[in-house]
Amino acid sequence: MRFTASRQRIEDASDLVVNGVNSAFRQGIRPHPLVFTAADGAILTDLDGNHLIDYFLGMGPMLLGHRPPPVVAAARQALDRSILVAGQTEAEYAAAQLLADLIPSAEQVRFALSGSEAVHAALRVARAHTGRSTVLKFEGHYHGWFDNVLWSVAPEPADAGPREAPIPVPGSAGQQPADVAVLPWNDAGLLAERLRRHDVAAVIMEPVMFNNAGILPLPGYLEAARAACDETGTLLIFDEVITGFRVSAGGAQREFGVTPDLTILGKALANGFPVAALVGRRGPMSQLGGAVLHGGTYNTQSVAMAATVATLTEIAGGEPYRRIDQVGKRLMDGLRKEFADAGVDARIVGWPAVFQVRLDPVPPRDYREGLRADRARYADLAAALLDLGVRVLPRGTWFVSAAHEDEHVDRTLAAVRAVLAGRA
Ligand code: PLP
Repeated sequence: MRFTASRQRIEDASDLVVNGVNSAFRQGIRPHPLVFTAADGAILTDLDGNHLIDYFLGMGPMLLGHRPPPVVAAARQALDRSILVAGQTEAEYAAAQLLADLIPSAEQVRFALSGSEAVHAALRVARAHTGRSTVLKFEGHYHGWFDNVLWSVAPEPADAGPREAPIPVPGSAGQQPADVAVLPWNDAGLLAERLRRHDVAAVIMEPVMFNNAGILPLPGYLEAARAACDETGTLLIFDEVITGFRVSAGGAQREFGVTPDLTILGKALANGFPVAALVGRRGPMSQLGGAVLHGGTYNTQSVAMAATVATLTEIAGGEPYRRIDQVGKRLMDGLRKEFADAGVDARIVGWPAVFQVRLDPVPPRDYREGLRADRARYADLAAALLDLGVRVLPRGTWFVSAAHEDEHVDRTLAAVRAVLAGRA
């Protein structure tokens, strides 16, 4: 496929829009960032007229696919009534009720616009609730781009200190210092020992480490983290921005049977509309009704809330999962076979709606072990797949939607086969 029109447009636009993109995560894409003209179902159309099978899915949100009819209809209807009212609407209460029905930890709800903002609110709540200031996070986990958590997301091991006592590494120039402690994930002993100092307000983690290497919690780890938090008066926060609604309709917390105090939701929550949520136990959440400030001009914007209700109603009905389970499992099994037939050591880990492909025969426990995978070869594979009309994330995460069909899976597997055979 040719991407020359996109390349030219990005080049021209770069004079005005920095690097031609509006998020750091959209630059450095091979062969270069793309410009899109349409998205429908499982297919993206770009400026060159290419039709691409999409496994980016907006970096995760489009669980129902691009432009699913019930969500589009709900958003259109909402637009006929209002855009923004700086007050309450029934839609936000309906959306909150759906969250409470689906997510085990959701006794109370607050909506925000982005995952980063909802994480920010959660950390503020945790600090106020416990009267402690340190937040503990794990190497390789991403919780948004704000100063107090953008630490040790993808550090060079040479900068990051010893495995058992990592040095927090900032993720950006210009970042303020933060009261943050960092540990390797999946090590229950180290976590329990650190919490015994009784100075940590909250432990925040992705319950499955999808932002880096796609690592599952070791059996008993989430339970041990829960117990260590309970014993030391520390809040447990699950950042389910990726896992929520993809690992299961009740998130990773329902799948693994471990309920955190606070949960961050985003992405698939509103199928592409800018909505995130902080949900949790009444105790800590009640801080938001008191001294803890959480604001936002655009929180619960009418169109976005109508889309949220429509998305969560579909999710609660279960039909999207029946479709994704069937297609996603076929894709996962098919990929396993293609890699095995080609003699490539690959592991495919996760769920039909979100899984990770790693070129590494041994499952990693944490970020540093995850660096063992042949990530450069995988990125080459992703770039070659794009040339054959299949758009996958270079870091190995695959998102599957209810709009993906067998035909898309067949074409994807044929492209993978061609690339692995050196025919592309
Ligand atoms: N938390 C996790 C686990 C994420 O994957 C992301 C975004 O990718 C965020 C938080 C931040 O969400 P947002 O990009 O909506 O600010």
